[in-house]
Parts: sequence; C-alpha cells; structure tokens
Amino acid sequence: MTTPCIITVAITGSLPQKRDNPAVPITAAEQIESTHAAFEAGASLVHLHVRNDDGSPTSSPERFAQVMAGIRQHCPGMVIQFSTGGRSGAGRERGAHLALRPDMGSLATGSVNFPTRVYDNAPDLVAWLAAEMQAHDIKPEVEAFDLSMVFQAAKMAREGRITGPLHVQFVMGIQNAMPADREVLAFYVQTLRRLSPHATWTGAGIGRDQLTLARWSLELGGHCRTGMEDNVRLDRDTLAPSNAALVQQVVQLCEVHGRHAATPAETRALLGLPAGV
Ligand code: MG
Repeated sequence: MTTPCIITVAITGSLPQKRDNPAVPITAAEQIESTHAAFEAGASLVHLHVRNDDGSPTSSPERFAQVMAGIRQHCPGMVIQFSTGGRSGAGRERGAHLALRPDMGSLATGSVNFPTRVYDNAPDLVAWLAAEMQAHDIKPEVEAFDLSMVFQAAKMAREGRITGPLHVQFVMGIQNAMPADREVLAFYVQTLRRLSPHATWTGAGIGRDQLTLARWSLELGGHCRTGMEDNVRLDRDTLAPSNAALVQQVVQLCEVHGRHAATPAETRALLGLPAGV
C-alpha cells in the first residue's frame, strides 16, 4: 500500500489576502466553518493564523483558543498547528499562544527575504520557540525556505532541542526567496533523508506554484499543503470559492498518483502524534 498523503490546509494567512478574495475566512466563526469544510473534503491538518474581526492580524491567545476549541469540536482528530511566524507579532509575542498546547507549531529555523520585508528569525528566538514547543509537548513543523534551514533543524534534533522525528515543510515560490524548482526540491528531499532518515516532509507552493508543488510532492513521496494563505485562485481565471475547493483539487491529484488523503488517525501515526481527542 502506498503512503497516505497528509493534506495540510492553511486557511488564513497573515497578509491581507481578503483584498484578493472575499472568501478568505477572517472571523472565528468563519475560520471554524472553513476548516470544517476543508476537513470534510480531506484535509487532516490545519495551519492557523488568526485575525481580529476587522481583518488585521493578531497574536491574541484568546482568539487562538476560541478557534482551536471550535475546530476540536467540529473536526475530531484533526491536527491543529499554530503559526509562530507571519505578521502576527514580534519577538516572543509570536509564541505566546503555545501555552495552549496545539498539536504542532510552525518553526522557521532561519531568516529569509519575503516580498517586502525580511522574515526575521534570529537564533535566540528560534531557540526560545523550540524550547517552548518542547516544554508544551508540541511537535514543530520546520519551515525550510532554503537548505541551511534543513541543516539547522537536523542539528537542533541531534542536540535534543527538537524532539524527533523531524517534520519539514519545503516552501517554494515566495517572491525574493527560493522559487519553485523541481531539481532543488528533489535535492532538499535527498538531503533531508541523508541527515534525518525518519523525517517526513511536505511541499508548499505559493500562488500559482501551489498545485505544481503538490504534484511534485506526490511524485517524490511527500505530503501536500494547500489553502488560501498561500493562494486564492483555483486557476488563472477563477477565484477559489473556499478552502475546501482547494483541498478537493489536491485530493484529485492524490488519486492520479495512487495516493489517498490521510485520515486524522493516519496523519497522527505518520507524524508520531498521540491519538486525537
Ligand atoms: Mg503561515
């Protein structure tokens, strides 16, 4: 049997995507509803940023708690991953919500240029976020924007600062960072296997590269991320009506590649997470 494909849905980013597509969920009720529809469509992991009702990004733990409670109620077993990045806060504010003990937290292990700014992840902040995740029994998803971040994650795992096995997300297609390039992705995967043989990985493509990365990830044995944080269109001419519609595209792609969308229980087993509540 082939390995099931974990489909991550990143429902809402920290940038003002609402401007580009009014279907991006913003309020807590919209986020819970959108996650539930994506879960029904086949997503088993949700990557979460939260907003104020006016659409501005926030790092409010209260808001994270509210959305997490709704997702736990309506999406049994779904893996909940909080973002510690984006524009949701500065410095240690970015980890204030980890005390809520989501299943996972995103952890960028280095800095990189983004479209209009530096995505700033100084060594002491990375170390602090990793320690917070260990203290709260949260599995990191390492966000790799280039190869150095994979080496850094493997080093932190060797030193016991990340509890293994590693789960790494390779992000491609952000303007001013690593473009979508299949040979580079294949080399990322090869290097991760060499450094950390039991690691799992996901490919995330931004904008028009979203489905391309999903296809390459399926070909190379990885997992897939989709959702309106990264891309708000079904194709060049069509706005995505929902996160669920983007998930459905990936489910179809899985079938083409002889994979199936992982259930929550399969996802937890693949990631070494305890059974869901
Ligand atoms: Mg994010």
